Amino acid sequence: MSEDGKDRTEEEGSAAGRKGSARLRKCNVAMLMASVVLLMMLCGLLLSRIYSLNETVDSLTAQAQKMGQVIEGQRVQLAEMKLLEEKIEELLAYKEAYEAGRPGNKDVRPGEEEDGEPEIKAAHKVYLTFDDGPSIYTQDILDILDEYGVKATFFVLGKENDSAREAMKRIVEDGHTLAMHSYTHKYADIYASVENFAEDFAKIQNYIYDVTGVTSTVYRFPGGSSNSVSPTDMSVFAEYLEEQGVRYFDWNISSGDGGSYVFPVETLLENCTSKISAYETSVILMHDSAGKKTTVEALPEIIETILDMEDTAILPITDSTELIQHRKWQEDKADKADQTDKTGRSGQSGR
Ligand code: ZN
Repeated sequence: MSEDGKDRTEEEGSAAGRKGSARLRKCNVAMLMASVVLLMMLCGLLLSRIYSLNETVDSLTAQAQKMGQVIEGQRVQLAEMKLLEEKIEELLAYKEAYEAGRPGNKDVRPGEEEDGEPEIKAAHKVYLTFDDGPSIYTQDILDILDEYGVKATFFVLGKENDSAREAMKRIVEDGHTLAMHSYTHKYADIYASVENFAEDFAKIQNYIYDVTGVTSTVYRFPGGSSNSVSPTDMSVFAEYLEEQGVRYFDWNISSGDGGSYVFPVETLLENCTSKISAYETSVILMHDSAGKKTTVEALPEIIETILDMEDTAILPITDSTELIQHRKWQEDKADKADQTDKTGRSGQSGR
């Protein structure tokens, strides 16, 4: 082969090689571009997927919130239904009691709450009070009061035996008023001097506190504040009680069971109930001492008769109870007599 021919062959060969590598490059570029496009498409797909997932999450969150609101609403409804159920039960119990002829204080209109205690509004307020206990009859009396759902006031003495202490505790637990009627009930001792009176007073107040944890602030003088047995002017003792922050109560209705004569049930019923409609406040004197069996027997009828009266409520004595005091009445009477003397005319007749 000539030199010339050799060169031409080499030239031809390298030209073919250049053509091949150019094609390869073109192919690579095409593949790269295809890859980029594919990648971009994948990215787009992924982005749209993320977007739709986001939307799903948002709608799920909204659904969860809505569910929460529904649950809350149902919880409120459930609570309301429970309240309604309680009210219905209360009404059913009331209906039952009413049908049994023992409606409790049906005429009582609950008024404004005062110091956490609802003030009772009734035209006639009746306070059942029991003196000289506790005795063998106190538990029976508490059972009867419980049966009719009414509260009373017990003016107790310093009786140091277990059953008396049990009765005192139950008086407090059942929501009645535990009040003082002196420790000994011995007129000659208590009324001999203010010192004697103070000593006896401290003894009964401390005794009640030791047994029940209650500091009693209600008192009834043995024999009443208008008794004729005290050698000392009763106003001295009244002032002493006032200094102690204690209010004393007498009575304006007497059952008549205080004497030694035992009245029959009918008489006690008549005595206890005949004057109530004439008074705004009736404090009825009864005794739960031994020997007062007919008082216990008359009590259910006394309560039923009072509860049947129009706009009349049976209540325990509290700090807001209107005072019924004989001594005050005597002063009023004296004042009226004074005025009559001065004017020369007769005063208006009282009750
Ligand atoms: Zn007494």
